[in-house]
Amino acid sequence: MRVVLLGPPGAGKGTQAQIIAGRRGVPAISTGDIFRANVSGQTELGLLAKGFMDAGELVPDEITVSMVRDRLAEPDAKVGFLLDGFPRTIPQAERLRSSLQELGHGLDRVLELVVDEDELVRRLSSRRMLVDGQWVQRDDDDPETVRRRLHVYQEQTAPLSGFYETAGLLARIAAVGSVEEVTARALAALGQPGPERSDPTGQPSAG
Ligand code: ADP
Repeated sequence: MRVVLLGPPGAGKGTQAQIIAGRRGVPAISTGDIFRANVSGQTELGLLAKGFMDAGELVPDEITVSMVRDRLAEPDAKVGFLLDGFPRTIPQAERLRSSLQELGHGLDRVLELVVDEDELVRRLSSRRMLVDGQWVQRDDDDPETVRRRLHVYQEQTAPLSGFYETAGLLARIAAVGSVEEVTARALAALGQPGPERSDPTGQPSAG
């Protein structure tokens, strides 16, 4: 299963990515999480990314694309992956397509989580993360940065919806209701896992 999860900040991509990836036995790869881990580890990549993240802007494509290429080359991503937060621009999507092509693969599906903007603002402004036993607000969840991230999403990421629709890969689901309801819709939209993983003989199933 090679899947991209698309959707605005606050749509619940991270939560659904963890659950769906767990059910399907593939790694959930979140570029936001990788950047945040690098920021807290004060790595060179983290120092580069921090300014962009704090401003609610995207980290430049060159940096992000090479980071994702390295991650996808790791052994656990051989069986598939669920990408959360990547691609986020048309050039990133094109680079992903050519990287996968080199490996003889393509994406199976792109799942877009749809939520209206008022609900996103409500969710993001009340969102807290558990860090070392304390509930804290993410650095980029303050109201001004939230507005900027939503704007950047509309400008740079929303066009991916049409890009993947044209490619025949897009499925859209409403990301409202309980976490379980959204997961059920997501799994239904993704369909059954392919026969190559459920059939130990590796033969295509007849029907
Ligand atoms: P959200 O979807 O809630 O905005 P993420 O955790 O996915 O949060 O991303 C947080 C920040 O990390 C983004 O605002 C951006 O600065 C950076 N980032 C994450 N993924 C990408 C990407 N694919 N391209 C560029 N920047 C990214």
